[in-house]
Amino acid sequence: MVALMGTMVELLDDFLRAKELADQTIGFLGKSQQPPHPRNFALLYGYFSRKSPALTRELDQILKSGTLLGETALNSLYQRHFGSAAEVQAIQKASGVIEAMLDKILSQMGEARDHSRAYGQALEDFSGRIDNDNAPLALDELRAALTAMLAETRKMESNARRLETQFAAANSELVELKQNLDQVRLEAMTDGLTGISNRKGFDQRLETYSQNSEGWPLSMVMVDIDHFKKFNDKFGHQTGDQVLRLVAQTLVDCVRGQDFAARYGGEEFVILLPSTDLDGAYAVADNIRNKVAAKKITRRNTGESLGQITLSLGISRYRPGEDTAAFISRADQGLYLAKDHGRNRVSSVETLREIAASA
Ligand code: GH3
Ligand code: MG
Ligand code: MG
Repeated sequence: MVALMGTMVELLDDFLRAKELADQTIGFLGKSQQPPHPRNFALLYGYFSRKSPALTRELDQILKSGTLLGETALNSLYQRHFGSAAEVQAIQKASGVIEAMLDKILSQMGEARDHSRAYGQALEDFSGRIDNDNAPLALDELRAALTAMLAETRKMESNARRLETQFAAANSELVELKQNLDQVRLEAMTDGLTGISNRKGFDQRLETYSQNSEGWPLSMVMVDIDHFKKFNDKFGHQTGDQVLRLVAQTLVDCVRGQDFAARYGGEEFVILLPSTDLDGAYAVADNIRNKVAAKKITRRNTGESLGQITLSLGISRYRPGEDTAAFISRADQGLYLAKDHGRNRVSSVETLREIAASA
């Protein structure tokens, strides 16, 4: 049975159901000429089990559009729907290491306590012997007792030094572990293709920004590439991927400070703009629209001109206290309005009018 910890897909089925889903998965991957390795298997098994509405919706859409499921799309889908598996594994591993380290430190502390007790006892004996008025020590006896005490002190000193070294080693192990975890967390929130934040990173930032009244008014820009399927069909998925990188880079170049750009999924991007009202969001969105439309897209290796890429954008403003889903939904509706009105434009449902027609 496959049990994968994903963001939301958990795959636990009884034998017959699992076998049926596995057959479907293998059959599908065979037809798509994709290897049935664990990533692809988990993804398609998850899809056929229909346990994650988000995965079902997204894959249904891709399959309906007739797009071939290639390596990039499979990887991107896996990252988004099962991506936290790596994070979970790293955290489990880290907690194992921390537990082992705590055990070690506790036992070292126990040892240190034993040593210090033994040393205390030796001191006690020593002072008992030299303090005893009834049996004063001869000089050579005193010398022997002092030598023994000095040896005990040295032993104690070397134990303390050893412990110090062990604690320092444990400390640097912990620092390294923390850096690894930070790295894994960062990777889990980064889109592999474009290098900007992914949906997960966006969701987190949206929660933070929407709850921080200092950043209000908070606005959002939802971005979608126009007729991107046609572009892919005409020039190939790899060139399409280059365009996605180009759009991501343009978004990053057009925002500043606390502004936050992310790949929302597929050929959709999103930007959060704190301390920005709808007019400001419009200005940012229209600037991005212009910049992308002005770019001459050329094929990398041949320099062949591939024409122009345009974007449709929807903007919305956060209403304090509302569900963030409503805030996203209004930006999305604005985006669809822009599509309906001819694309290559910025729209919003909040003003109930199209803000501007593009040049
Ligand atoms: P519209 O103007 O209505 O947005 O049309 P569209 O063709 O852009 O929209 P549609 O939703 O029909 O198709 C989106 C396309 O985006 C389908 C898919 O091939 C492409 N796409 C999604 N993710 C990727 C990716 O990671 N790489 C590439 N190259 N293409 C992608
Ligand atoms: Mg789209
Ligand atoms: Mg599109």
